[in-house]
Amino acid sequence: MASVREERAPWRLGRLRRRLRSPPLLLLPLLLLLRSSAQAAHIKKAEATTTTVAGSEAAEGQFDHYYHEAALGEALEAAAAAGPPGLARLFSIGSSVEGRPLWVLRLTAGLGPPPTATAAAAAGLDAAGPLLPGRPQVKLVGNMHGDETVSRQVLVYLARELASGYRRGDPRLVRLLNTTDVYLLPSLNPDGFERAREGDCGLGDSGPPGTSGRYNSRGRDLNRSFPDQFSTGKPPSLDEVPEVRALIDWIRKNKFVLSGNLHGGSVVASYPFDDSPKHVATGIYSKTSDDEVFRYLAKAYASNHPIMKTGEPHCPGDEDETFKDGITNGAHWYDVE
Ligand SMILES: [Zn+2]
Repeated sequence: MASVREERAPWRLGRLRRRLRSPPLLLLPLLLLLRSSAQAAHIKKAEATTTTVAGSEAAEGQFDHYYHEAALGEALEAAAAAGPPGLARLFSIGSSVEGRPLWVLRLTAGLGPPPTATAAAAAGLDAAGPLLPGRPQVKLVGNMHGDETVSRQVLVYLARELASGYRRGDPRLVRLLNTTDVYLLPSLNPDGFERAREGDCGLGDSGPPGTSGRYNSRGRDLNRSFPDQFSTGKPPSLDEVPEVRALIDWIRKNKFVLSGNLHGGSVVASYPFDDSPKHVATGIYSKTSDDEVFRYLAKAYASNHPIMKTGEPHCPGDEDETFKDGITNGAHWYDVE
């Protein structure tokens, strides 16, 4: 299984924390993963409503506050309602340590109306809805580190744009959602998000477990809790990380062909592998058999990002760090062990 990665090396976390005192604008490393392996649990269903285009556009203008607690699910429901009936489904793949839902909004044309909870239970149906033959599944995951908050918002805005764009007939978005099965998981660490405080970047590994917004509520770094092909130790126990367990279970039941994981901390598109058998700290290019595809995808993303494409993000604390074309192989950047 390809590992998800931290956006910074552990030995650089001091600098990371200093840097994150600046506003977290555009600090969205895109971590690309090609995966195979679908379905999900359920909690809510997206209502296909008759929200007007004007109504959804008004909602699109609200970029000035974070979606805390239940507001995240409500924002995703509103995003779903901005599209036509049958375009979106909202469901949860599980719960965080503190019991918050791990919301996923699925967007693709032809889902049909969601079943009622009773009908779904009787028929053994999943709230995510059936897989659609021939339609590739793609997922984006954000806010795995609870204090890296921008992606949580951005994925809601993306959901809104996809749904409302489809409704208004934007040719690019119509084509996309007619041919691709898109899954957006804005927050894998909702507990950490609620603990995080803007400007409070010092409660990292030195604080007592559970105090940092970065970790889950058992003090675990979700991004260091996945099995790793190059690890020689015991696989991590999933008992402390229900968020990771839920994600792994969900991935295994599905057939995602492309995944991205959004973090804060630098501006770069990073692609697998994230470590190598030797675990050299930095400078080892650890290739996958899909290296050319990953490079292509990373470049496509970076070249459309006004800062990333320069390869010189000038992040505070790392002003001299550069990335050719705004991309990097993960292990070449630093080894995630
Ligand atoms: Zn991160």
